Formats: sequence, structure tokens, C-alpha cells
Amino acid sequence: MPKSDVIVIGGGAIGLSSAYYLNRAGYSVTVLDDQSSDQIGSCSWGNAGMVCPSHFVPLAAPGVVKQGLKWLMDPESPFSIDFSPSLEMIQWLWQFRKAANEAHVKHAANTLRELGMYSRSLFIELDQKLDFGFTQDGILMLCSEDETLDHELSVSKMARDIGMEAIDLDPDGVAKTETGMATDLAGGVYYPLDCHVNPVTFLSEMKKHLTASGVTIHHNTAVISVDGDQNKIMAVHSENESWEGDHFVLAAGSFSSKLIQSLGLKMPLMAGKGYSVTMDSPPQKPAIPAILVEARIASTPMGPTWRFGGTMTVTQRSRKINERKLHAMLRAVSNYYPDYGYDWTSTLEPWVGLRPLSADGVPYIGAFEAYPNLIAATGHAMLGVSLASGTGQLVTDIISGNNPAVDLSMLKPDRF
Ligand SMILES: Cc1cc2nc3c(=O)[nH]c(=O)nc-3n(C[C@H](O)[C@H](O)[C@H](O)COP(=O)(O)OP(=O)(O)OC[C@H]3O[C@@H](n4cnc5c(N)ncnc54)[C@H](O)[C@@H]3O)c2cc1C
Repeated sequence: MPKSDVIVIGGGAIGLSSAYYLNRAGYSVTVLDDQSSDQIGSCSWGNAGMVCPSHFVPLAAPGVVKQGLKWLMDPESPFSIDFSPSLEMIQWLWQFRKAANEAHVKHAANTLRELGMYSRSLFIELDQKLDFGFTQDGILMLCSEDETLDHELSVSKMARDIGMEAIDLDPDGVAKTETGMATDLAGGVYYPLDCHVNPVTFLSEMKKHLTASGVTIHHNTAVISVDGDQNKIMAVHSENESWEGDHFVLAAGSFSSKLIQSLGLKMPLMAGKGYSVTMDSPPQKPAIPAILVEARIASTPMGPTWRFGGTMTVTQRSRKINERKLHAMLRAVSNYYPDYGYDWTSTLEPWVGLRPLSADGVPYIGAFEAYPNLIAATGHAMLGVSLASGTGQLVTDIISGNNPAVDLSMLKPDRF
């Protein structure tokens, strides 16, 4: 049976980043991924590429449940639930509702900010080695309505209070910052520290580097079982092969919790389905990436292309496209950029991704108490690219027994 120091299950942004830092620390690493080598089916492929420490408010926050319930009534809203009466989903929804309170947000905001800033600093370092379209242009939060602008201004104040630069903008201020396209807005906030990458290039450059550095990557390889014996993971198995390791990193995105059920481990995880559409050479495109706040759309110019990502359907892993929601998203862009035309995107092929959603909006990063050589690295929801490099280094620190740069107490995978 082939053996490596570390077996990484899942070759998305989190799995590959973990492999990168483990390899750099001197471990032999094998990555097992069930996708073909283009990786279009992983969530790390078609996302908006934002590296945004400014997103420190967890998904589970006060007001989210009320807003979600309102949205459930609207077939064109950005949110829905593919409700299946399974125990797994009911428990997840219950735990999410419980976590959506002020005290949790305050606690989680510190951890997410720390991890976000740490990851950003590692991306800057990584950019010296690999070419993956890393751009430090900041990100705009754009609001078309006064009420949402008021909310964003309260978040920007919170950002400044925890030491993060945030610049409040009136419509003129937005126009001076966003110089690529005209805007028609109530105002916005500019977070100059935010950055973005090209996620497709990130995956391919990372794999090129890892392969050249001796990491073995197997595609089209689905792990179907994990063998545990007396508090130790011994091996993982695909249909035809098995791999032994001293440590195992669980980075299979929204499929991670299913893989460990047979070990009796519980790590509540749902998939958050979202779509993206990419214009190869649009007639115009913005200069700065933005979140179009009311519509919950991420808009990212990437080199000559322009990508929108959005919608969130909590599901147990269905990839079915809801055309009505997709097209509502594509039409809503003109509320922010009046010169954008719906016909620029209406016939383009959408991409579907499944975000790994933890039950409290905070990732799972850490060793399981029952199996200390199994390290979870998942549940990053809308921040899996943002937090990829930080997560990879933390996984390496956990395995090496080094002091991690970020407090891991909130991130324990067996906290539920
Ligand atoms: C529309 C949209 C826009 C987004 N925009 C952003 C953004 O701007 N910034 C940001 O930070 N995040 C963004 N995200 C979220 C981000 O894409 C995810 O958080 C991130 O990709 C998760 O990475 P991952 O490596 O955990 O999971 P994945 O990328 O899904 O990787 C997991 C891999 O494991 C494989 N796998 C699963 N089961 C098995 C198995 N049994 N055996 C072997 N392999 C297995 C999967 O197929 C996959 O290849 C966005 C998501 C969406 C949907």
C-alpha cells in the first residue's frame, strides 16, 4: 500500500494550499481528488476569487434568519433552501439559528479577521513565487438603497474599531474610486486591504508547483472509506486502491462530513449552492471588484474577463440550476452599473459551485479529539479562497506541533 507522511483528501483551494505548506515543511504529501484535472466541479474553480479580510462577519449573524425567511417567499431572491426533511439538515438549520446572535458575531469576527489578515499576508508572499493573478485593488461594497448603506456603514465602523481600514463613500466618492464603469448608487464602502486572485489560475499554478516539488496528486480518485483503529486513522480507500499515512487532512469541501460519518464523527455541514457567469471580453468592465450588496452578487474583473457570482441555496448537495434565480441575478447587475446590459450574460453558460457551510459560519480547522491524526480543513462557506493560504499553514502547524499564528479555539471541528 503506498504511504505518505500526509494524505490530503480533496484538491480544491484548501486541500492544495495545505499540501503546499506541508510540502514546504518537509512532509511527503499525496492529494486525492475525485474531480478530473480541470476541476470545474470543485467549488474552488468558478468562484469570484476575492481575498477579503473585510468579510469578518460570520454567515450566522442576527438578522440573517429573519431576512432568509423573507427571501424564502420570493422566487427571485438570492436565497433559498432545498428543504429535505433529513435529520442532517434539520440539525444544521437549528444549530445555525442558535449561532445567529450578537455574542457569537463578536467572538467570531475577531477570529475571522485574524485568519483573514494572516491569509492575506501569506498570499502576498505566495505571489512572489506563483503567478495566479493576485491583485491588490481593494473591494467596494456598493449599495443602491439608503437602508442597506446604513447597515454597511455600521459594519465599516466595526471594521475600523477592530483596526481594519474602511473608507465610507458617498455617490461621488464611489465614482472617483470605481473608474472603469459608471455607477448609480446610494453610496458604498471601500476596503483597500482586500485583494483578488484568478481562482482557475490559482489551482493550476498551485498544482504545477506541487507536482514539481514532489507532491503526488491523483485526480478521478474518490475516497470512499476512511479506516480508523483505536483513536488513529490508518488508511483511506478508493474503489481500487488504498493509501496509508501518518496524518490525514479532510479537505473534501461540502462532502467532508459524509466521509467521516462511519467513524462516528459529527461535523455539521451543508452545501451552499451558488452560480457564476464569466464574460470573456465584455464591452465595458469595472476597475474594482465589488459586492453588489442588496443583490448579494460578487463582481470581479479578472484580467480581460468579468465574473459575477451569487445566490445561495442551502442544499444537501444538489447541483440543479434554478434558472429564475440565476437570471434575476444577471438582471440585478444593472441596478449598480447602468451601462451593463443583461444581454451580455443572458446566454452564457453558468457554473455551479457548492460552498461548504459550517453550522455557525466559522470554518472547521483542527484535529478531531477522537482521532488526533485526522485534521479538518473545511466549512469556509464564502471565504474558502480568502482563507486558503492561512488554513494551509495552520494545518501544517497543527501537524508539526508548532504554535499556530491564529487562535484555533473557535475552529475545533468537533465543537457541535
Ligand atoms: C458563486 C461563488 C462565489 C464565491 N466567491 C468567493 C470569493 O470571492 N472568495 C472566497 O474566498 N470564496 C468564494 N466562494 C467560496 C469558495 O469557492 C469555497 O469556500 C472554496 O472553494 C471551498 O474550497 P474547498 O477546497 O474547501 O472545497 P472544494 O473547492 O469543493 O474542493 C474540495 C474537493 O474535494 C473533492 N472531493 C469531495 N469528496 C471527495 C472524496 N470522497 N474523495 C476525493 N475528493 C473529494 C471535491 O470534488 C473537490 O474537488 C464562492 C463560492 C461560490 C459558489
